[in-house]
Amino acid sequence: MNGLSKPITYLKGVGEKRAQLYEKLNIFTVRDLLYHFPRSYVDFTKPAPLDETENGQQVVVEATVVRKLQSARIRRDFVIYKALARDVNSQCGLTLTFFNQPYAFENIKENETYLFYGKVSGDFLKKEMNSPQTISINDKNFILPNYPLTAKLTVKMLRTNVSDALKIADVSDIETLSEEIRHKYDLCDLKTALNSIHFPKKISDAQLAQRRLAFDELLCLSLGLTVLGKKNRSQSGCVMQNTDIGAFYAALPFEMTQGQFLAVCDIIGDMQKNVPMNRLLQGDVGSGKTVVAAAACYFSYKNGFQSALMAPTEILAKQHYNTLKNFLEMHNIKVCLLIGSQSEKQKKQLKEQIAGGEFDVIVGTQALIQGTTEFHRLGLVITDEQHRFGVRQRSLFAKKGEHPHCLFMSATPIPRTLSLIIYGDLDISLIEELPKGRSEIETFAVTGKLRKRAYEFIKKELDEKRRAYIVCPAIDENESDLESVVKYAKDISENDFSDYKVGLLHGKMSSDEKQSTMEKFKSGEIDLLVCTTVVEVGVDVPSATVIMIENAERYGLSQLHQLRGRVGRGKFKSYCILITDSKSQTAIERVKILSRLKNGFEISEQDLRLRGPGDFFGTRQHGLPELKIASLNDDAALIEQAQQCAREILSSDSFKETSEYKALQNAVNRLFDSKHGG
Ligand code: ADP
Ligand code: MG
Repeated sequence: MNGLSKPITYLKGVGEKRAQLYEKLNIFTVRDLLYHFPRSYVDFTKPAPLDETENGQQVVVEATVVRKLQSARIRRDFVIYKALARDVNSQCGLTLTFFNQPYAFENIKENETYLFYGKVSGDFLKKEMNSPQTISINDKNFILPNYPLTAKLTVKMLRTNVSDALKIADVSDIETLSEEIRHKYDLCDLKTALNSIHFPKKISDAQLAQRRLAFDELLCLSLGLTVLGKKNRSQSGCVMQNTDIGAFYAALPFEMTQGQFLAVCDIIGDMQKNVPMNRLLQGDVGSGKTVVAAAACYFSYKNGFQSALMAPTEILAKQHYNTLKNFLEMHNIKVCLLIGSQSEKQKKQLKEQIAGGEFDVIVGTQALIQGTTEFHRLGLVITDEQHRFGVRQRSLFAKKGEHPHCLFMSATPIPRTLSLIIYGDLDISLIEELPKGRSEIETFAVTGKLRKRAYEFIKKELDEKRRAYIVCPAIDENESDLESVVKYAKDISENDFSDYKVGLLHGKMSSDEKQSTMEKFKSGEIDLLVCTTVVEVGVDVPSATVIMIENAERYGLSQLHQLRGRVGRGKFKSYCILITDSKSQTAIERVKILSRLKNGFEISEQDLRLRGPGDFFGTRQHGLPELKIASLNDDAALIEQAQQCAREILSSDSFKETSEYKALQNAVNRLFDSKHGG
């Protein structure tokens, strides 16, 4: 048996106690330990000049201890040790403070030079570092990995165990990639990668290792998703006949754009096949995806099938319900709404009617898919704003024993490379143009100093019988955030906008309250709506012409773009005012990008570039397995290569049959079975 699969206690010095600590980090086997990667590295080879560091930065500084001060006992069990030092690279003074660390203090000597690693604070005259890690100048070539740890487990212990693990594990046995592939994609072998991810000699070693290990992960993800996608497709769907939908087109109050028309053709084509449709309809905000959905429902109805449309929020579900009714009822198609906030009695009755086939189109929130709803010849399921749903939900209907055609609609806040992975198993229709007659939304980024002027501007629009949104930052919709939104609304309704009707909308209001507020806003009973991001997705009020966003720096670009899409939906010229007092250069740059770019795709690419790694689109949200080292955010080139490699492997046909790919297959299975996978 390969040492990798052995329990962690197999390692020297790891007993029950330490195994329990490892368990907290989800480490059970030798392999788990080797795949417990450092979060970052401290590079002691490159000390920074102290005068160029900013407060709060974690840095390595090379400094000579000038004088050790008398220790100060603050309380019986609390002693502070201080030393004054001088930075070798900038001659800047540095005060070192050690709390309750007599050993660390003992170890440094006056007139000797050390490497100190820690967080810098202080002012221009005097920099400080608290409880720095101290390293002898002789260890200048040292690179120290930072690991996710847990109480009582030190880096030192972990490094000793990892080093043992590397010795006993026969890593060559589990190499997943042939030499040919490694050569083609310029990757080091797995053994080297695992060695240098934990014990790099240079930072560049660690980077090469990272690349190899991230490639592995992306490759497995890609292989796994593609195979999953194929599985979903093997069932037969509800085969429909080609039916003329000219009557639907003829009754529309506008002409379809080219993109809308082609999307409908794609969809109708799919639904005539005996494998279920699995299609993503991508189109920027305002491109008119809903009417495409309506056309699909019409086609499904003409073929004697029921359709369901799911929205991420109740507000949106109700809006879609009204829109679909508008487009479909005149053709004798019966549309109903099913949402969580309806009374139990009402829901029960609706469900009976749905099961009995009394309705042709069912619009609702997730409640629709989650529970007990039974359908009658369900032929088509449409999911709006797909990025809000997990990928996993795609297969829920299949589990219920139904295999309807599936259409996902999204306003494309996801860069192309990402959507390749996340929607890798979907066909894609793209609506590239907006309906005719839309004027561009003019976007301004200003500081809070211009807020009053912005208010004046908004008033002018309101006087023209237009409507406006003011979005306040309540990102988590927590108590204090909500308070500030409520206060904001009260404040402006009593002062700047006392002559206007100001409404309030936030996530903690009941569904009825939200709906009635939205209706008042639509009808003009409310002129100005102060709200949180609940208006983000899909809300359609054509007479709204201004959206002002407070603390714009708090949002991602794509989210701002979505918000901006709430205006410019009618024939009037529209405006977006972004307010930010942020001093951060990136924040300002981000907000400015928005005044320049209009296209959702470009914006999402920029967003990805600027935000870097992090939780932009956490894989969790998509129901994908958790990645340990690859980031779907910033590895765009690597993602593309891994995908290409996956395609090559799959087309070679030997992926399933031969032993050549056994190790890779195992790796794919491990990734998708992992305990942490959403
Ligand atoms: P989104 O793609 O953001 O979901 P919607 O489907 O909500 O966009 O459509 C936005 C608005 O554009 C709606 O008011 C809709 O009636 C209108 N619309 C859709 N298609 C057209 C078209 N071809 N010509 C004119 N207006 C259209
Ligand atoms: Mg929409």
